[in-house]
Amino acid sequence: MLSLRPVFILLGVITAVRAAEIPKAPPDLPPDQRFKTDILLIVAHPDDETVVSAYLAKAIFDEHKRVSVIFGTRGNGGGNEAGNEQADALSTVREIEAREALAAFGVLHVWFLDGPDTPGQDVLRSLETWHHGEALAKVVRLVRLTRPEVILTWLPVYVAGENHGDHQASSVIATEAFDLAGDPTVFPEQLSQPRNRRDINNLTEGLHPWQPKKLYFFSDASHVDFQQGQGPSYNPKAVSPAQGVSYARLAAEEMAYHLTQGDTGQFATDALKKGDLKFFEEPVQLVFGKSLVKSSSTGDILEGITPGSIPYARVSGYQASEKSGLSIELAGPWAFYREFWKAHDILQLASLLKQPEVMISPGEKLTLPITITNSEATAREVTLQAILPEGWREERGRAVYPVDARGSYTVQTVLQSPAGAQKGWVNPDIIWKAEAGGKEIGSIHMRVLIGGGGLPQ
Ligand SMILES: [Zn+2]
Repeated sequence: MLSLRPVFILLGVITAVRAAEIPKAPPDLPPDQRFKTDILLIVAHPDDETVVSAYLAKAIFDEHKRVSVIFGTRGNGGGNEAGNEQADALSTVREIEAREALAAFGVLHVWFLDGPDTPGQDVLRSLETWHHGEALAKVVRLVRLTRPEVILTWLPVYVAGENHGDHQASSVIATEAFDLAGDPTVFPEQLSQPRNRRDINNLTEGLHPWQPKKLYFFSDASHVDFQQGQGPSYNPKAVSPAQGVSYARLAAEEMAYHLTQGDTGQFATDALKKGDLKFFEEPVQLVFGKSLVKSSSTGDILEGITPGSIPYARVSGYQASEKSGLSIELAGPWAFYREFWKAHDILQLASLLKQPEVMISPGEKLTLPITITNSEATAREVTLQAILPEGWREERGRAVYPVDARGSYTVQTVLQSPAGAQKGWVNPDIIWKAEAGGKEIGSIHMRVLIGGGGLPQ
């Protein structure tokens, strides 16, 4: 009888040889854990972080959360309260002030996008000067690197108050990055694995898509009424168990690093000297943006957050809407925001304000872009005129406008406010009214706050 034994031995040898021929690969490298962050703060200027620093102190010192920060500019604009350095030199100083201020909170992962300070309140101008696309690519890269659970940023709404165009630009880019960083078709060069990670010629980045879980906003509006109940609120009077002082004091100490800036660094230094922390004791009020995990809108920022990634969540995106007849609408940033909120599924922001509002200084001109739309099949003539409070003057806008069939006409209207206008809300509101064929086709009501100090820097 033939023995099967040699055959088994032979098979065993072959298997052993094959196993020896196939080496085991080392484990794949995970994303760099050193950069994993809980909260990514995306703001415009060095010192913007001070608006929420009382909350950050709680998250960092007492809840041991990791915070990273992106600034849209390095702070090249505005005056210098600490020295003669201006323009590019000033931004060099301000970058260090911001780094030192945040380092005092243990925050070392701080990036600057290099956008220029752009005075004004028009978000579209700031997006232009910041080179929107490049800035967005950088923020998406940093979201993929830092893999935040929460993104915290300025409020993307045109409100009466400082409401800097740069602040709004940082919030628009932050919202876009929240919605895009998890999409592998967006900036795919950031994701493609390099052929050899040790190769000097690597031109792709080896990151991974990342979907942040929650988005929150904060505002520097002149009035807080519309923000109340819209998100969590934190009390800076509370004492930090870890630090043994109030969050208000920690916020003042953080702000005091920004010595080139009169209304923050110098102000905080004086407040600490006097022991008067009233300004810092105002609640930190946040506005809920969205959450992809189960969470209430007014609960803690980190409510519902559990470790690990979540799937990419596609947003609605822009959808064209059909208009009918003749209509007028505010154009420019107002028109942009109407579509932006819908596209990014943060439509609750559309009802924060009862009607549009702006703040100007006494004697300042108010420029409002208005689009007249004709959805009818024939050309029409539309008359635009303003109804103004006492002392106001119409400079540009009142006219009969020819509007093509299925076309539109955008008018830059200009109103002059009285030099001696009282501070406070103008009463009644500014109204632009449009008529066609003797019939009113629509009106725009603008709430105007007379403030002081000219345009924000
Ligand atoms: Zn700012």
